[in-house]
Amino acid sequence: MHGTVSVTRGKKLTIHTYTAPELGWRANTHIIELPNELVLFDAQLTPALAREVVTIANALGKPITRLYISHAHPDHFAGATEIDAPTYALASVQKLINRSGDLRIERGYQYTPGHGDAETITSRPIDHAVEAGEEVIDGVRFSFEPVKDAETTEQLAIGFPDEDIVIAPDVLYNGVHLFIGEHAFDAWEAAIARLEARPYNIILPGHGLPGGRSIYDAQRAYLAVAREAFAEANGPEDLNNRLEAAFPEFGGSAMQGLQNFYLYPEPASTEN
Ligand SMILES: [Zn+2]
Repeated sequence: MHGTVSVTRGKKLTIHTYTAPELGWRANTHIIELPNELVLFDAQLTPALAREVVTIANALGKPITRLYISHAHPDHFAGATEIDAPTYALASVQKLINRSGDLRIERGYQYTPGHGDAETITSRPIDHAVEAGEEVIDGVRFSFEPVKDAETTEQLAIGFPDEDIVIAPDVLYNGVHLFIGEHAFDAWEAAIARLEARPYNIILPGHGLPGGRSIYDAQRAYLAVAREAFAEANGPEDLNNRLEAAFPEFGGSAMQGLQNFYLYPEPASTEN
């Protein structure tokens, strides 16, 4: 096994958070274990990592009934082809993946060291659109909460109002360099504030290990440093060096290649 699994126990559910190794950008897949079934959240960057998730899920002895995808970045949806369950995403995310999923995966691999020999994988369309609001699945209340304009245009958070837990996608990372490819620092801070205003105390981030509400302050601190570093850096390499010097213990620097593709476009910028 290459990733790590952290277990968060609630009253009616248990969430097994699989955190990818550096090769998978430390992205999380959350295996939400309900009384009779499993619901997965996000699908990993490579087929091999997704298969590792499936092996862990299968050991729980319950069927995987749904796969939710938070947003249209390859570290969250590429591995969906390996997961045998209907897929769900916000309508805007569904559109992006269905239209340009293959390109997104290809680009993610192209700019990530060590992916030159990654298995070929094609994007799988999203089956169902998710709307904001609540739904009870296998006796557990899910609250679908779209978050706009943070790390990408729109992404899905799932709150569990009876469990004090939120799955916070890529609005929040923990101990992992943020993906600042959109350099939308103000919007990201606003998204953090909106999520922070929700009542949840147990935070399952998009990358890195689960934690508590201190993740909010840590995130703001990172954004402040990243904003300044981006303003002052004389190019991609200088930016990487500044971020790594400021947060030497952080993972996720494998994302820097793709990040710099967006931050320092040549010849023309492309949609994130
Ligand atoms: Zn991500």
